[in-house]
Amino acid sequence: MPVTDYTEGLHQLADGVWAWLQPDGGWGVSNAGLIDGGGHSLLVDTQFDLPRTRRMLSAMAAVTAGSPIRHAVNTHGNGDHCFGNELLDPGVRIWAAPEAGSHLRAESPQLLAALLAADLGPQLSGYLRQAFGTFEFTGITTRLPDADVASDIELTVGSRPVRLLRFGPAHTHGDVAVFDPASGVVFAGDLLFIGGTPIMWAGPAHSWIAALERLLALDADTFVPGHGPVTDAAGVHEVIAYLAHVEAGATELHARGRTVPQAADELDLGRFADWGNPERLVINVDSCYRHLDPGHPAPDLVALFGQMARWRN
Ligand SMILES: [Zn+2]
Repeated sequence: MPVTDYTEGLHQLADGVWAWLQPDGGWGVSNAGLIDGGGHSLLVDTQFDLPRTRRMLSAMAAVTAGSPIRHAVNTHGNGDHCFGNELLDPGVRIWAAPEAGSHLRAESPQLLAALLAADLGPQLSGYLRQAFGTFEFTGITTRLPDADVASDIELTVGSRPVRLLRFGPAHTHGDVAVFDPASGVVFAGDLLFIGGTPIMWAGPAHSWIAALERLLALDADTFVPGHGPVTDAAGVHEVIAYLAHVEAGATELHARGRTVPQAADELDLGRFADWGNPERLVINVDSCYRHLDPGHPAPDLVALFGQMARWRN
């Protein structure tokens, strides 16, 4: 049963807690959150570009006019959770895992704009433009997080205690989830993809699974994923099942000497084949291979997108 409708906009989940949801949750189409502590609020994540961030902040203005945003969290360093940071008031403290800043510097809006503009052949450029062509990457000034979540911390937002939980390596090298104990709502960032295929930029899978098991142990009722509809514990268990399935398959295919593209072709996704962007399996197998073999080369973003474009065809 859906926890709330999956339509674009601000959805109230509990007293003082809202999710900003964006269907269809595909590449760069991310969710965010707002917690009003009475007098001040905390924002969970900005958006992939300035128009989308403006749209979100103006929808939140009904709340933030009375409780201005004092704290923000970037759940990790992917641009679809951070590129709108510059639109926040300069006095807002932006919290993130220490690893998020270097990730954000390495995958800048300028890099994405250049990749979209480059001629990388019809298959890869076609894929990139379909995935990212609706975003405006020009004119963004990267604003880095300015407060480290090096381990779990508790913030007081207005008069409300809110917990920032540090994980990783999992989806990235440093992931943060936001837990509001009063309502039992967890904003999981990209530790959760619901209805779409999770992406393991960092891994290993068992470290990500351990993070999700810790989220389950919070006994929360409501989980807001970084992408996809709001879910409950059952949705978290499904992501664990996907990660375990891919790790087992990749381990077996690695032992049989398959390359990453061969393994991604051969690995049977079973019931997970219906999730959006199944081609992300390429990234996930590549990550598994890096953890199985320390000599496996570091990920090359362009090469991985090329393999995903080929996988789709
Ligand atoms: Zn994301």
